[in-house]
Amino acid sequence: MSYLKEVIARTEEKNPSQPEFIQAVEEVLMSLEATVDKHPEFVAASIYDRIVEPDRQIIFRVPWVDDSGKVQVNRGMRVQFNNAIGPYKGGLRFHPSVNIGIIKFLGFEQIFKNALTTLPMGGGKGGSDFDPKGKSDGEVMRFCYSFMHELFRHVGPDTDVPAGDIGVGGREIGYMYGFYKKTLNEHTGVLTGKGREYGGSLIRPEATGYGTVYFAAEMLATRNDSFENKTVIISGAGNVAQFASEKVLELGGKNISFCDSSGTIIDMEGIDKEKLNFVMELKNIRRGRIKEYVEKYPNAVYYDGKSVWDVARDEGIKCDIALPCATQNEIHESHAEALIKNGCYCISEGANMPSLPKAVDIYLENKVLYGPGKAANAGGVSVSGLEMSQNSLKLSWEREEVDNRLKVIMKNIHESSRNAAIAYGFDEENYVAGANIAGFLKVAKAMLSYGVL
Ligand code: NDP
Repeated sequence: MSYLKEVIARTEEKNPSQPEFIQAVEEVLMSLEATVDKHPEFVAASIYDRIVEPDRQIIFRVPWVDDSGKVQVNRGMRVQFNNAIGPYKGGLRFHPSVNIGIIKFLGFEQIFKNALTTLPMGGGKGGSDFDPKGKSDGEVMRFCYSFMHELFRHVGPDTDVPAGDIGVGGREIGYMYGFYKKTLNEHTGVLTGKGREYGGSLIRPEATGYGTVYFAAEMLATRNDSFENKTVIISGAGNVAQFASEKVLELGGKNISFCDSSGTIIDMEGIDKEKLNFVMELKNIRRGRIKEYVEKYPNAVYYDGKSVWDVARDEGIKCDIALPCATQNEIHESHAEALIKNGCYCISEGANMPSLPKAVDIYLENKVLYGPGKAANAGGVSVSGLEMSQNSLKLSWEREEVDNRLKVIMKNIHESSRNAAIAYGFDEENYVAGANIAGFLKVAKAMLSYGVL
């Protein structure tokens, strides 16, 4: 058994019932074999065993009172995974599926993603099994206050700086930041994704979606190609999906889909600016379901209970580019095969780990331009890093300046992934290996400098 397979086996033994975490560890470590040969000092210092063990995991009770006066209890958690290169940084996810294994997978991915951005940020992630769907604003507020009532003692602008993720948008960040500010009597950049009026950065809401499209554009450019006149399939209908769709439109492409956990809409005429504004209003203000799209635009079709990838496979829908922007493990083997059969040759992941390992193998075998989440969706945390810089400087940069910095960061991530792939003997288009190696090397070297901690 190879050295890294032994590390994976040990990790699996120590973390039973955490399949997503093991999947993420396996995906990263299996592309690091070449680093073992080149860096015996990493093996000597057990860096691989140390990097899969979080610095600490905090799990806590979150009691709150619902609108009927009943006391509800949820579980909150924060995994501070690795701060070798900067304060812990990573989002908070509020979704009923959240458990410690999912938060650990996200925190582990975040270590390498944050290293790729070139900004000084370590990896962390947190969340709760609380479901904001169907809750009143008052209930969400009381939950957020209770969540922060515990979390505030573990975070800080130089310690750990959470942000949003699934189920945590501007409203939730506002409640949590308000509670933190009031409790500590200080106005510091402890959360990112803040409102514009109280320290947020322009372009932060757009950053993950825009960045995913910028990364795809960089991959396409290596083949003298672009988004112009391309048909695009996007999953999700939340923050990342909406702004990915907006940028696709700006670059001359045509997005034909959105989904939520209830079903999928396909609009073969394309989702133009007016239709996208409708989706933004529907999802962000009215907090409605995506099926309402077809009531407003009857030429579109709604598929109840099916994901975008099920629909694309079962209906044989053709596309050039796919942008998964909903959740982990959405694209299975059969979806990947169908996408490629129907003409898809570029996949850029807005979501974290949306493709199962078998699907990734199929992309690589078929020479699909494939940007894995930790590289392709790093735009969000990059602009979070820029929000931290602005907060420290007590400055607020213009929209154009932040967008330009985002573009440069995505370009650099693309380049460093490609260069690392080449340097370690992989095909230059193997962004999976390239991103894992580039991110890992930076963190591993920093860990080595500290001795055994
Ligand atoms: P949102 O909560 O804004 O949106 C998530 C969307 O995905 C919703 O439309 C949701 O539908 C849908 N969705 C969630 N779970 C499922 C499911 N099981 N099946 C089908 N649809 C589903 O989250 P974000 O847009 O912020 O996050 C999307 C992805 O992007 C996540 O993987 C996240 O980790 C990743 N990401 C986000 C970043 C950010 O800055 N926000 C940064 C980097 C990565 P419904 O409304 O029904 O739940």
